[in-house]
Amino acid sequence: MVKSFTTLSEIKSEIAKGQTTVEKLVKGYLNNIAANAGLNAFNEVFDEEALARAKEVDARIQQGVGGKLAGMVVAIKDNICYKGHKVSASSKILKDFTSIYSSTIVDRLLAEDAIIIGRCNCDEFGMGAANENSFYGPVKNFADETRVSGGSSGGSAVAVQANMCQAAIGTDTGGSVRQPASFCGLVGLKPTYGRISRHGIIAYASSFDQVGPITRSVEDAALLLEVMCGPDEYDSTLANVAAPLFFERLEKPGVKKIAYLHEAITNHGVDDEVKSALIQSIEKLRAEGHVVKSISFDFLDYLVPSYYILAMAEASSNLSRYDGVHFGYRSPAAVDLESTYKRSRSEGFGKEVKRRIMLGTFVLSAGYYDAYYAKAQKVRRLIKEKTDEILKEYDFIIIPTAPEPAFELGKEEKDPVVTYLSDIFTVQASLTGAPAISLPVGNNSKGLPLGLQLITRHFEEQELLNFSKYFLGL
Ligand code: GLN
Repeated sequence: MVKSFTTLSEIKSEIAKGQTTVEKLVKGYLNNIAANAGLNAFNEVFDEEALARAKEVDARIQQGVGGKLAGMVVAIKDNICYKGHKVSASSKILKDFTSIYSSTIVDRLLAEDAIIIGRCNCDEFGMGAANENSFYGPVKNFADETRVSGGSSGGSAVAVQANMCQAAIGTDTGGSVRQPASFCGLVGLKPTYGRISRHGIIAYASSFDQVGPITRSVEDAALLLEVMCGPDEYDSTLANVAAPLFFERLEKPGVKKIAYLHEAITNHGVDDEVKSALIQSIEKLRAEGHVVKSISFDFLDYLVPSYYILAMAEASSNLSRYDGVHFGYRSPAAVDLESTYKRSRSEGFGKEVKRRIMLGTFVLSAGYYDAYYAKAQKVRRLIKEKTDEILKEYDFIIIPTAPEPAFELGKEEKDPVVTYLSDIFTVQASLTGAPAISLPVGNNSKGLPLGLQLITRHFEEQELLNFSKYFLGL
C-alpha cells in the first residue's frame, strides 16, 4: 500500500530523508490502480513509461536538479493531448486517435518533472455531471461504489480519491473540475478564463473551457496552477497577465467580506446536510471575525438555461470537425461523402453528445438564433455584470459546489434535465469567467463527501488560494 500524502511537500521531504523514492511511489500507485480497476477511473495507464520516468526523476533528485514537481505523479483527463499517446475524450469517435503534439500544459508539467501515469475516464467530450456519458462506462465513487464520481472529470477525481496518483488535471466548462472534486472529498480549482492555455485540449465549449487541478490540498493546487499558467503563443484567448508564484506566495489572509446565497439555504432543492455544511462554515467564519452576509441573486433561474444554450451552441460548432474524414472513426458502412458524415457521426457519437449537437444546431439556426442564442448571450452579460457588482462589495461568494452529494449511478440516464439542474451552483463562475474553487468540508451522515465553493474576482487566484488554505485549517 502506498501512503496517501496531502501535499507534494510531504512527499519531497520523505524522498529527501530516504524514506521513499519516486519509483516506489509509482509502483504503489500502479498497484492501487490494478486493485481498484473496477472503479473504471482510467482509460489507459502508462505503466512502463511512468516507471521509466520515475527512475530518471529519482536520478535528477539525487543530483539536486529535480524540478518543482519532482515526486508528483499526476493523471490527466482523456481530453488533454500528450504527444504519441492516445486521446479519446471518452468517445468512440476518437477511440484510436493518437495525439500528434502535446498540449502546452503537458509540456509544462513534464518540464517540471511531473510523471503522467495515465489518461482518465470522463464524460464524452466533457458533456455530463456524473461520468455516465462515457464510451468506456461510468466511473464509481471510491467512497461508495453504488454512487457516481461526478463529472465530467470523474476519472480524474477518483484517481486522486483512491490514491492512484497525487493529483489529476481536469477541465471545467460548467463545473467539471469542481463538482467531481466535491463528490470525492478533494480540492478542485477552476482558474480565471484566460489563465491557463487550452492549446492541445479537446474543445467542448470554447468560451467556457478551462483547465484545472484536482488535489488533496490547496498547496498542491497552487503549485500546479503556478506551473501550468502563463502566456502561450498558441492560445490567443489567454490574458496577457504575469504568471505569479502562487505556491510560494501562499499566506494567511486578513479579514474578509463574504457573501452567501440566501437561496442555497432556503431552497428545497438543496440537500439538508449540504445546507448545514454551509451554515456551519458561515458561523465559523463569523466567529473568526469575517463579515458574512446573505445576498440574493436575481438571475439564479437563468444560470442553467443560458449556460446550456451557449455551451451546446459552441459544442455543435466545435464537434463539426469529427466528420469521419479528418479524425478518428469512419463508419465501415459509408459509401459516399454524405453517408461518411452521417453514419460516422451517428455511430461514433454517444446519445448525450448527439442530443447536444442537435440542440446546439437548433439554437444557432436561422429563425431561432435571436430567440435563443443571442438572448442567452445577453443574459450572460447581465449575469456577469451582476456578479461583478457583488464582487465589488464582497471578496468572495460562498455557495455549495453541488445541491447534493454524489447521487446513485443510473440517475442521469433517466432524466437529463435533472442532471443539468444540478449544475446550478457551478455555472455562474463559468458564465462570468471568474475563478472558483471547491473545498472539501467533511462527509455527510452516509459517509459521502461534501464540498463548498468560493468564487472571487478575475485573476485573484492568489487571494482565493490563500483564503482556501486558511478556511480548510479552521
Ligand atoms: N455538467 C456540465 C455539462 O454537462 C459541465 C460539464 C463540464 O464542465 N465539462 O455541460
